[in-house]
Amino acid sequence: MLTESTRQAEQAVSRTKVDAGDYFIGIVREGQTLRILDLEGNQAADTLFYSAADPAERYSAMDTIREQGNLYLTTGSVLRSSENRPMLEIVADTCGRHDTLGGACATESNTVRYDLEKRCMHACRDSWMLAIAEHPEYGISKRDIGHNINFFMNVPVTEEGGLTFEDGISAPGKYVELTALMDVVVLISNCPQLNNPCNGYNPTPIELLVWDNE
Ligand SMILES: [Zn+2]
Repeated sequence: MLTESTRQAEQAVSRTKVDAGDYFIGIVREGQTLRILDLEGNQAADTLFYSAADPAERYSAMDTIREQGNLYLTTGSVLRSSENRPMLEIVADTCGRHDTLGGACATESNTVRYDLEKRCMHACRDSWMLAIAEHPEYGISKRDIGHNINFFMNVPVTEEGGLTFEDGISAPGKYVELTALMDVVVLISNCPQLNNPCNGYNPTPIELLVWDNE
């Protein structure tokens, strides 16, 4: 469901550009709103959310899908935790399609999906591991790396129930906005994937904007 935001970039309390292949880790407080902005289009932002109070409680695709009765995430979707508590709500979305089924790229899946020689290529899982290694203050360990959301990624389900990785439908300037319903740690790998059409074979930067509660 396409919904535009009335929030102005000039009023954001923080703006952070994340290059392709880089990561972001930080806290968004309850009531604050996070915008993930696809600066150049066709990018995928592989994202994990944790309760800042206890990272053992984390985003759960299963609980989210069951409670909303829909496989896709867009405006109105409430992202639920592994304790089935609301973590964030999508309050604006100009892309209209975000995946939570396809998973993040890893060096292992790259070898299975593409080629053995792709093993040494940079993947989202590496970026997450680097983020938690460089930021132990969030208390997130390897075992907390679970299922994720791929913002802007287009993974439609076929009539037979299959998953397909399709060309992205995002474009320069498209964004998704989420209001935090609890204090959350946001961990994003701005996907460096070069082997599938989800980011047009050309990973590009994203920008993260945060607004305080109005
Ligand atoms: Zn990736």
